[in-house]
Amino acid sequence: MIAEDMVALGMHKSVIREIFEYSKKRGAQIGPEHVFDFSIGNPNVPAPQSVHQAIRELLEREDDIYLHGYTSAQGDMETRKAIAENLNERFGTHFHQDNLYMTCGAAASLRIILEAIHEEGDEIITFTPFFPEYRVFVENSGAKLVPVHTNPDTFQIDFDKLECAFSEHTKAVIVNSPNNPSGVIFPEEAIQKLAAVLEEKEKIYGHAICLIADEPYRELVYDGREVPYITKYYKNTVVCYSYSKSLSLPGERIGYLLIPDEMEQAKELYAAVCGAGRALGFVCAPSLFQHVVRRCTGQVSDLSIYKKNRDLLYHALTEYGYSCVYPDGAFYLFVKSMEADTDAFCERAKKYELLVVPSESFGCSGYVRIAYCVSTAQIENALPAFKKLAEEYKAAK
Ligand code: PLP
Repeated sequence: MIAEDMVALGMHKSVIREIFEYSKKRGAQIGPEHVFDFSIGNPNVPAPQSVHQAIRELLEREDDIYLHGYTSAQGDMETRKAIAENLNERFGTHFHQDNLYMTCGAAASLRIILEAIHEEGDEIITFTPFFPEYRVFVENSGAKLVPVHTNPDTFQIDFDKLECAFSEHTKAVIVNSPNNPSGVIFPEEAIQKLAAVLEEKEKIYGHAICLIADEPYRELVYDGREVPYITKYYKNTVVCYSYSKSLSLPGERIGYLLIPDEMEQAKELYAAVCGAGRALGFVCAPSLFQHVVRRCTGQVSDLSIYKKNRDLLYHALTEYGYSCVYPDGAFYLFVKSMEADTDAFCERAKKYELLVVPSESFGCSGYVRIAYCVSTAQIENALPAFKKLAEEYKAAK
């Protein structure tokens, strides 16, 4: 009666969520202030005042009996219009409301687009390290995930390896920049090169290859780094966006999927997105928050705290002997494990109440992810523990 594969998914939570649950239990035992939980990407920076203001104003509009009602299946028209106009202002694009489909966050955007493009035997390429849920979303849509290792010194795309990953079954490539978990941004040259490779492969295999730009961290960049807007480089690009990180609204489940007019069979693809949303039960994203983001387009939480946290943590950890590719965006450090067995390293870190995530589910071994979307005080308090952990390894050499 019960689907075995769903039981397996439900029984084995994501490693991140398992550690997050452990953290709550451990916090109840020794006090949460003594647990240094760096497991989950839950922004600790509050949503901007404008979000709270918008919610208050919306709730006070007593005449609006449909505030909590269904919107159009693809999302409120005015909201989609406001988002399109904001994107056009920022990126010089020409989007309109009918390019957008409002979703319950980037997770739903990804799942919907994968469902919308799926045909038997599809392969979906992505780059390591990758957000672990990609595997769940891709496999659940019936396709096969094909991970391509990036250059381990930079986590940038290794184009020779990418070349070997294509086949006639390649339907899409998922790209996530700024990246979870490495914090790396793919620069313009890499996106140009990727676009050229994809165009060439489309010619060889005689069908469109979709580039899925998963961008929940688009605004979380430091030191003036640019994140190329990928639809401008490759016409068959769709964008999966979420307000979870930029407006600190992860629990409100609000984001969108963008299908530009330039895409091959754009109208049919948009119809397929509507169909996939319907088939998956994802019609009508949370309506209160559709109205909130309409009023707050272009705004972001106070991201300066993440930069402060990154600088503090990166400099301290590298001084203690940890090694890590410098992250230009998102709010994660992807640090080399100090022993080959990453799980053993995480267990040893636990002795110091440090909760970090082993890298295996991100598609590569030998690293741990440290989410620094925590209070600066937590980082300051955790630094002696990180130092002792590194010293324990040094002493054992
Ligand atoms: N994609 C990446 C790379 C993520 O890191 C996340 C969440 O952390 C998601 C997608 C899912 O985003 P959301 O929670 O907005 O659905």
